[in-house]
Amino acid sequence: MLARNKDGKTWYKKEGEFTESDVKKFYRYQFKIPEGIQEIQFIFDYSPRALEDPEKNRQLIKSALQEDVKEYSEDDKVKVKKLFRQKIEMLFDEVYPIRNLLDVLLYDTEGNCVGNLASVGKVTWVNKRGASPGFTPWKIKPGMWMIEIVVASVVTKKCHYEMEILLFGKESGRGIEVKKEEKIVARAKIEERETIVKGENRWYAGELHVHSNYSDGENSIKEIIRKAKIEGLNFFALTDHNLVSGYDSIPQDSSFPIIKGIEITTFFGHALGLGMKSSVDWRCKNGDVRNVNDVINEVHAQGALFSIAHPYCIGDPVCAGCRWNFKETDYRLIDMIEVWCNSWRIGKIENCRSFKLWNKLLNEGLRVTGVSSRDWHDVDKVPKYGPISKTFVYANLLSEDKLIEGLRKGHVFVSSGPTVFFWTEHWGKNYMCGDEIEAVAQESIRFNIKVENLQTFAQLKIIRDGSVFFEKDLSPKEELIVGFSDIPISDKFDNKKLEDSWYRCEIYAADKERNLLCFANPIYVKKSKSKD
Ligand SMILES: [Zn+2]
Ligand SMILES: [Zn+2]
Repeated sequence: MLARNKDGKTWYKKEGEFTESDVKKFYRYQFKIPEGIQEIQFIFDYSPRALEDPEKNRQLIKSALQEDVKEYSEDDKVKVKKLFRQKIEMLFDEVYPIRNLLDVLLYDTEGNCVGNLASVGKVTWVNKRGASPGFTPWKIKPGMWMIEIVVASVVTKKCHYEMEILLFGKESGRGIEVKKEEKIVARAKIEERETIVKGENRWYAGELHVHSNYSDGENSIKEIIRKAKIEGLNFFALTDHNLVSGYDSIPQDSSFPIIKGIEITTFFGHALGLGMKSSVDWRCKNGDVRNVNDVINEVHAQGALFSIAHPYCIGDPVCAGCRWNFKETDYRLIDMIEVWCNSWRIGKIENCRSFKLWNKLLNEGLRVTGVSSRDWHDVDKVPKYGPISKTFVYANLLSEDKLIEGLRKGHVFVSSGPTVFFWTEHWGKNYMCGDEIEAVAQESIRFNIKVENLQTFAQLKIIRDGSVFFEKDLSPKEELIVGFSDIPISDKFDNKKLEDSWYRCEIYAADKERNLLCFANPIYVKKSKSKD
């Protein structure tokens, strides 16, 4: 790298080109910081940023979809064919223009990650008292530092990049003021907010997957909170890509908790850690990809939950690295899966596959909680393909800890409109979705579903052990209750029935699109040991 002195600043400059053959690789550049430096500034830019030609975009989407369909069963292929053309256009609306994706990280003399570039083409700065979004305030020690360029996706023929690093003998002071001001504004807002009654057992509406301007989101945390309230959310999880530097900007407002999360964003899939304390790295020090189960264990060691994000998202090169492709995944370690991503209408194909995976895991006896995700990047973007779902969590207090506890228990339903409460009363005690009851052979259990605010004709489906067990047509109504009974454990020598069972409830619109309106997580029935 080139080093020069200019106007008392030392600066480094580097440029180069990436092509498709560089994708999923890292490039590391070391540079020396002399004594007496207080602040680092750098600018990174690349061009073209995206593939502009609409036809080439369609072609990429089409071939990615075709690649996708190869994995489908023959039955599903027929169903998907009808949706295929429509899906290309829907995806085009969502992803055009398909972007080149370069990520830039900065490491100090000891190899600690100082930050992850959030704004391409803008000055990013870091000193010991403050930093741009995406970076942690850091003491600038002299020695060899490192910049790493992560080439996530190149969809144009070539992608040219330029990087400039400037070193300053004193802090520029910029941004530090802004940070202070933001905190004051955040504090002032607290007084305006209505506080939710504490200590109340109830369902809280949330969004578990949100990006701020600390990574590739458009909005500050403050702006997201404002919009989240307008949308009727009681909380959300801040899940910026691979970093936790946004935590410092979370206002201390107990009436609107924000779950501290992270989106572990790899070349082979994305996952959320929820309830995090610090970042986890999906790579080894030398840049190799770690075994994902080690990463999950590290998330768990922080007391946090691990959730697979958009497992069947279309993936490379349309959404680089988004598809869950870790073959070694030990699903016993997985706490949650985003089974409902995006509006159901546009996410249908992927979401149905996620439900299939979910059913398979539940049938293996695993307790995985199904959640939804908007993957919020821009609060002003209006969803074009129908309503977005929310994840409702039952908690006895609106706090980060209690929400995590509710998620851990599977006390979760997901809805884009009507609310659905699924419960059973067993020996005088109520059990809700996510709970487990014990039953003896031949014991009949009564399950209840209460639906509120149903605006359209709909169909209720009860899924037992992965198959439809009970169906009922529903009419629009403010409140309705449906019940059904079953003998979860029979004494017949029918292997299936002697095993544990699970019941989930789903409600679909009764129109020609049959979009999912809401679902409640399973109630699990375990064979009672006492009567073995
Ligand atoms: Zn993602
Ligand atoms: Zn995301």
